Amino acid sequence: MASTGSIVVIGAGQAGASAAAKLRSLGYGGAIHLVGNEPHLPYQRPPLSKKYLTGEIDLERLLIKPEAFYESSNINLHLDVDVVGIDTNDNSISLADGKTIHWDQLLLATGSRPRALPTGMISHGCPIHVLRNLHDVHSLTPALENANTALIVGGGYIGLETAASARKFDVNVTLVEATERILQRVAAEATSKRFAELHRNNGVDICEGTGLASITSPPDGKCRASFSNGDSLDVDLVLVGIGVVPNTELAEAAGIATQNGISVDNQCRTSNPKIYAAGDCASFNWRGTHLRLESVQNAIDQAEAAAANMMGEITEYDPMPWFWSDQYDVKLQIAGLSQGFNRTTERSGPRQGSGSIWYYRDDSLLAVDAFNDAAAYMTGKRLLEAGINPPFKTIANPDTALKSLLKQ
Ligand SMILES: Cc1cc2nc3c(=O)[nH]c(=O)nc-3n(C[C@H](O)[C@H](O)[C@H](O)COP(=O)(O)OP(=O)(O)OC[C@H]3O[C@@H](n4cnc5c(N)ncnc54)[C@H](O)[C@@H]3O)c2cc1C
Repeated sequence: MASTGSIVVIGAGQAGASAAAKLRSLGYGGAIHLVGNEPHLPYQRPPLSKKYLTGEIDLERLLIKPEAFYESSNINLHLDVDVVGIDTNDNSISLADGKTIHWDQLLLATGSRPRALPTGMISHGCPIHVLRNLHDVHSLTPALENANTALIVGGGYIGLETAASARKFDVNVTLVEATERILQRVAAEATSKRFAELHRNNGVDICEGTGLASITSPPDGKCRASFSNGDSLDVDLVLVGIGVVPNTELAEAAGIATQNGISVDNQCRTSNPKIYAAGDCASFNWRGTHLRLESVQNAIDQAEAAAANMMGEITEYDPMPWFWSDQYDVKLQIAGLSQGFNRTTERSGPRQGSGSIWYYRDDSLLAVDAFNDAAAYMTGKRLLEAGINPPFKTIANPDTALKSLLKQ
């Protein structure tokens, strides 16, 4: 068991903070350095597009741990500073302020960043917003307060949640999605349809199959967006939410293998046995597919598994992914991963508009999307965790009581 020496964590976000806390709770007695390039204590990102953006909760509520926790746990926080290099010969990292920190083991928890629109698509001077960190929210909030119209590019969760929040500012929102439907990458058609309808009922103009061609800035201070179908639109602000790319550059420069993320084995170890990776930046093999997950569940669980392995325990990371999204009065909860499904069945929930979509690959249950239906979500999650595989026709039968499935 490693309980002395020095562990350095690069990235003071969800995964980094979770790993540092877990190391102490497992009894690690050596030095822990948590290094991050944002000026804030580690915080949760999900509310940035939801209740923090709309001003319903304050910064204090975002913090993963209060400041006193890091002091009492003797975790050395180095904030507002970039790690600019990893030296794998003398086991150190170098910081942008000229300092170096020695490590015996290193965890890369560098997260991901918003994917940018191709250069040349946006003319100089157009204020384009993205939503990844507190800095982004602090520039988006006043822009929303002063806007009458907004264009959101991208119909994934960030774009849709921001559209819902923007409606609370009374902004007229148009959302364009280049593929044929919103949420195409992550959900079945039935889920996409539900959310498109929900947004349209709340006044958002959802334009599917509509790619952005360019954004220019006419002299009146607006942004002029032109689309693949020849239409154009003048708006006060543009938010781009077209996915993220993992922050792998530090790892690559240190000679660590990457493949759509920093490649790790099922113990979260990279191609360098003293260096681990977790969270949005890490990719791994899971049940025959190569995955990189972008969720709080993954950031916490993978980081905690990495911490246990750094302590010399053998902990395999074999997640049962779960995720949620809040839009208007709908809570979507997802258990499992629908990737590779070839059929779905829909069940109604206990209240008007609530329900669930069950994803199967042939006769194997893969995932459940539940809309304001916590019981369906919990049942699906527990079935998947326990490896119980109810036949498709059982789930498709509206007379099946979900609870009864757990009694097998
Ligand atoms: C607006 C928004 C809403 C979301 N909503 C949900 C949701 O509803 N449900 C859900 O499950 N997930 C949600 N997510 C995703 C979830 O927040 C992420 O998956 C999670 O934060 C990933 O944690 P992480 O620690 O890997 O990365 P991060 O939390 O991004 O932390 C990485 C940190 O490393 C820092 N860093 C990177 N490079 C360096 C460097 N060289 N030197 C120093 N520091 C560096 C970054 O600046 C960052 O602070 C949301 C994300 C966003 C942005």
